[in-house]
Parts: sequence; structure tokens; C-alpha cells
Amino acid sequence: MPGTVEVSVRHILSDRTTGVLTRTRRITWRDSLYRVRRPASGRQSVELTCPVCDASLLAEVRTEGRTRRTRALLLVLAVLSLVVFFAAFAYAVHEGGRTLPEGQSLPTLFPVSVVSIAVTFVAAPVLFFRSRRYNGVTMLDAPKPRRLHGIMPVRGPVPGTATR
Ligand SMILES: [Zn+2]
Repeated sequence: MPGTVEVSVRHILSDRTTGVLTRTRRITWRDSLYRVRRPASGRQSVELTCPVCDASLLAEVRTEGRTRRTRALLLVLAVLSLVVFFAAFAYAVHEGGRTLPEGQSLPTLFPVSVVSIAVTFVAAPVLFFRSRRYNGVTMLDAPKPRRLHGIMPVRGPVPGTATR
């Protein structure tokens, strides 16, 4: 259905962390599917009701075009992170592998490159998956405790609905 987006309202049933040496986090939840209409322009607030506990969640929906642009931007940032990662990595290997003359320290750009490697190593995959998952729907508000709920993107054909 054009102009709509499917999301699922996630109600966290329990979130427990057990174990001392090896921590295991066990989360159980219940998802409920909703089909939300996208606005013709700008953004629009919609209220979704959690069927499990009747809590009303406030979500913001963006237009199809805006969603596509945000996804494209996130993907560009992911690629840029990857480029910076490899450039910084090559530089660090190059500078770090050199034998310096007595009394000369590594250039100041060296620690910068090491930090860049660490940051982009995390940022690139995060941005990539954000881009894949972004659907233009974000949760604005939920009754406290807020962490009990989430609005998750729905990917791919959902059983019981027609595929485009
Ligand atoms: Zn709920």
C-alpha cells in the first residue's frame, strides 16, 4: 500500500540480566503490527496504542521522500566512515612502522588517526544498519517507564499482507 508504513509496537515483558562472570541478558517482548499513513508533506504525529497494556505511544511519521533521503544520507555517512577508516589505518601503519630518528616523536596526526580508526570502526556498521532499518517513524513519547516500549521497523513482507 503506497503512502503507508508498517511498524510494530513493542511491549517489553521482561528484561533480566543474570550471571556474574558471563552475563546473559534475556529480553522478552510482544510485538503488535500497525500500519501508519505517511503525511503528504512534512511530518505528522500519530498515536499508537499498545494492545498489551493500553499505553498510548506518540510517534512521528515522515514522508516517503524524506525517509529515502535520510536513508541515503546515512548510507553516505557509512561509506565515508569506511573511507576514513581505511585511510587512517593506512596512515597509522605507515607512520607506526617507521623507525624514527633519535629524539623525534611520532607526528601529532598519529594519535588522531588511531582515534579515527576506533571511531569509524564502530560508526560505519552502526550507520549502515541505521540506514537499512530507518523507516521514517520515530517514537516521540511513551508513558514512563519509557524503556518498556519501542516502535520497531518492519522489514519485508509480513504474513497476512499482500506483497507489492
Ligand atoms: Zn505496553
